[in-house]
Amino acid sequence: MDPVTHLFLPLLFLFSTGVVNDKRREKLALLLSPVAVMPDIDILIGHRGVLHVPLLVLFFSVVSFLLARRYKRVFAALLFSLYWWSHLFLDFIAGGIPLLYPLSNMCFGVSIAFKVSFSSGSLPSRVSVVPPRVNVVKHVGFNTTHGVFPIATSFGVSCAVFFLLTLLIRYRRVFQRSLFLNRLQRML
Ligand SMILES: [Zn+2]
Repeated sequence: MDPVTHLFLPLLFLFSTGVVNDKRREKLALLLSPVAVMPDIDILIGHRGVLHVPLLVLFFSVVSFLLARRYKRVFAALLFSLYWWSHLFLDFIAGGIPLLYPLSNMCFGVSIAFKVSFSSGSLPSRVSVVPPRVNVVKHVGFNTTHGVFPIATSFGVSCAVFFLLTLLIRYRRVFQRSLFLNRLQRML
């Protein structure tokens, strides 16, 4: 999946559900948000997939939680894990991840296709429903860096727009207040 979706979909979730409910949490959520994109840097280090291994993510999640508990930063550790796991989940449903590494180098994923097709030109028009199909994708891709990787998609841009709208509604009072102050300053 593209980095824009990876970045904005978890942010949209955090800011629209109330999980992030004060200034400190907001700053942490924004500061740690690059973790949601970070796994894809394994393309740059020449080991596509190495940061997509669930066992590795589980290890870092546990370590970060134990460290955070000692320094009373549990929410930061939870965000760190949530961002990284969200990346794996999104890649799992949009292609594949090395789910069973180190037991297997194969990538596993599902692609969900639920389509309705309309045929025109016939009376009455026929509607045929293609049932949902869940495909298990198996391909060896763990150590490859070649291929075409999307940077942004329409869905990613939609997530970004909805996240910005969420912020706009969340901080509407701040915007209204600053607009009011601007008008007041102009009047004086
Ligand atoms: Zn990825």
